[in-house]
Amino acid sequence: MTKISNLQSGKNKLIRLCHRCGKCHETEVELERCPHCQKSFLPSLYFQKIHDEHQKYQELFSHAQEIQESDLIKGVAVLWTPCDESLSKNFTDPE
Ligand SMILES: [Zn+2]
Repeated sequence: MTKISNLQSGKNKLIRLCHRCGKCHETEVELERCPHCQKSFLPSLYFQKIHDEHQKYQELFSHAQEIQESDLIKGVAVLWTPCDESLSKNFTDPE
């Protein structure tokens, strides 16, 4: 289990597809709008977050480290967790 938590300590990235123009964007924080066509996006878990204590709209956009795969809309966004180089040395190819 230690190995898994180490793997997740890397810099997570969000890969998001724009549902208007189809461009893919890789960021560390959720995008408020598409840099290509300017289509605005809602933050993850928007309808849960708006019932939480009042926050500014911009504060609803989470950092990739705060997001779980299950928070994202399948087919539109994915969480990318890079593999830790030092851990990959522990893996050996099966013979
Ligand atoms: Zn777009």
